Amino acid sequence: MNKQPTLAFIGAGNMARAIIGGLIDNGYPAEQIWATEPTTAKLTDLAIQGVKTSDNNSEAVASADIVVLSVKPQILKSVCDEIVDAVQTQQPLIVSIAAGIMSPTIDHWLGTSNAIVRCMPNTPALVQTGASGLYANTFVSDEQRQQAEEILAAIGIALWVDEESQLDAVTAVSGSGPAYYFLMMESMIEAGKKLGLSEEVATQLTLQTALGAAKMASSSDVDPGELRRRVTSPNGTTEQAIKRFIDGGLPELVDTALKACNDRSVELA
Ligand code: NAD
Repeated sequence: MNKQPTLAFIGAGNMARAIIGGLIDNGYPAEQIWATEPTTAKLTDLAIQGVKTSDNNSEAVASADIVVLSVKPQILKSVCDEIVDAVQTQQPLIVSIAAGIMSPTIDHWLGTSNAIVRCMPNTPALVQTGASGLYANTFVSDEQRQQAEEILAAIGIALWVDEESQLDAVTAVSGSGPAYYFLMMESMIEAGKKLGLSEEVATQLTLQTALGAAKMASSSDVDPGELRRRVTSPNGTTEQAIKRFIDGGLPELVDTALKACNDRSVELA
């Protein structure tokens, strides 16, 4: 059996910890994983699980087949400056989860002709229910694509896009998407309260309904539009609400909102 590649997570914050946790739960050998942080005290729990830890980013890169850049975007350049020599020697696959920094920029910061996969995960990754978009530059081999997909699959689903610019659309749909559903939940809870429910009952009903609808839509062989039509009886109660949503322009509003998110993502890149 092939040995699993050695991974180095540069920055062991929320997202890296979620991925590492998912990998270990899936049976990935902890001793094949490095995690780095400036303050090693933050790494104690990972070290207890067998993850190799360090405050030296270059040391971790020097033994890695895959380097996961999991620091905040604003410090990515300084991290790249620090590891560029080790990257040039080791030639690892680079997987960046830093929002908004394009692969040619990362390639430039790390020398040249690096195999880079850029990912756009989302916050439900923290509960292993994430949705990530992945883009591979031309230097990434088929085997490396598979390896990157396996890493991101540890926190949910991972889907490839053909063009890097499509990561802006991924941002608009899934990257920022959890907030749209949270807004819908807030609105439903408030409306339920106005109709006489206690806050607790309105909240629990709203959250369980969101979970149930997502589970049904995910496991169904028909699309969400058909599911909606099936639960909307003519002249029934649901139809009254759906009519208000459609007459009020919800589909157009969603279109405008996602376009604005996409455009902002383009601007920030
Ligand atoms: P985080 O702040 O929890 O983690 C970043 C970690 O990097 C911190 O623990 C910090 O101590 C460490 N760090 C700082 N300087 C360092 C250095 N020089 N070397 C090594 N480590 C250093 O952030 P996060 O939420 O885990 O996000 C990480 C990346 O993932 C970001 O670039 C963000 O854009 C991206 N992302 C996050 C989410 C999300 O939902 N949290 C979604 C999409 C993308």
